[in-house]
Amino acid sequence: MAVSLTAKFPRVTLAHAPTPLEPMPHLSRLLGGPKLYVKRDDCTGLFLGGNKARQLEYYFGAALAEGADTVLTTGAVQSNHARQTAAAARKLGLGCEIQLENRVSGMAPEYYNLSGNVLLYRLLGVPIHTYPVGEDEEGADAQLEGIAAGIRDRGGKPYIIPLAARHPPLGALGYVDAMAETLEQARAQKIEIDAIVLPTGSAATHAGTLAGLRALGSRTKVFGICIRRNAALQSERVLARTRAAAKLLGTEHTIGNADVWVTDDYLGPGYGLPTPGMMEATELAAQTEALLVDPVYTGKAMAGLIGLVRKGHFKPSDTVVFLHTGGIPSLFGYQAVFGHEPVRP
Ligand SMILES: *Cc1c(COP(=O)(O)O)cnc(C)c1O
Repeated sequence: MAVSLTAKFPRVTLAHAPTPLEPMPHLSRLLGGPKLYVKRDDCTGLFLGGNKARQLEYYFGAALAEGADTVLTTGAVQSNHARQTAAAARKLGLGCEIQLENRVSGMAPEYYNLSGNVLLYRLLGVPIHTYPVGEDEEGADAQLEGIAAGIRDRGGKPYIIPLAARHPPLGALGYVDAMAETLEQARAQKIEIDAIVLPTGSAATHAGTLAGLRALGSRTKVFGICIRRNAALQSERVLARTRAAAKLLGTEHTIGNADVWVTDDYLGPGYGLPTPGMMEATELAAQTEALLVDPVYTGKAMAGLIGLVRKGHFKPSDTVVFLHTGGIPSLFGYQAVFGHEPVRP
């Protein structure tokens, strides 16, 4: 659903939307906190769901508008973004090549480098390139440029979905649409959303959510749970990305420094590295609401939601929405972390 705010940007439909906005009564009761809801963007379809389906609607819109025939992108080994990019390319009949970065170390390779999203890339049949260091966004993008040059030499027309934050945040537009959708659902369900809690990584989701809410006249607070960078770096990034997203919409005046709130209390040792809080949150979400979260993003964000409720951050009368950004396949890449014994009938 493109709303009038985003209507001028080329877009293709990829996400199954609207996704449900559901209450989490058991988790709310267990925590004795505010009224908790979940916006189910793990249910966007496109090869097992997630937030990239909405973001990719605008990248593929731009790629098709430019006449591209092959889409390139980069991500961690267990990248939901690379998975959904490859799936979108297949669905639209385009070529796709992905680049996987060595961002996470110490994982059991029989799961991390073979199962989860890696299995899904293989089923989609896209060529896989590798990149050694994960913290170097410009370097990862530069290697994509090299691959693109090879494709051009062979007469193809590549389109790169870049990683570095200096590019216009087209993906954020998908979360402007998602906020229009969510506010409409809230009206229909007769609830008022006081706060949204989400994982914040590249910050496209965070930026689109915040820029979208403010452009739509909503003062709902947005709490970002860091999953990659510390709070100082991430808040800078979120502010810049939100301003850039609002600039695309022509609503830059609606964004102030005070709109940005992030915490790195739930990040643990770093991107993709498990924490006790993530593991507790994963089991709690499953056992209270039959809600599946992932170890990299939504498990830490859920640990953040639980932590904020326990610290008394919200009033009991508040309505708080957890934005579930998906990521489910990577759970199977992290199976060893949970350390369960095999069942042997
Ligand atoms: C990519 C991703 C995020 C982070 O979204 P950004 O827009 O990069 O901040 C969160 N959750 C999941 C499951 C993701 O795959």
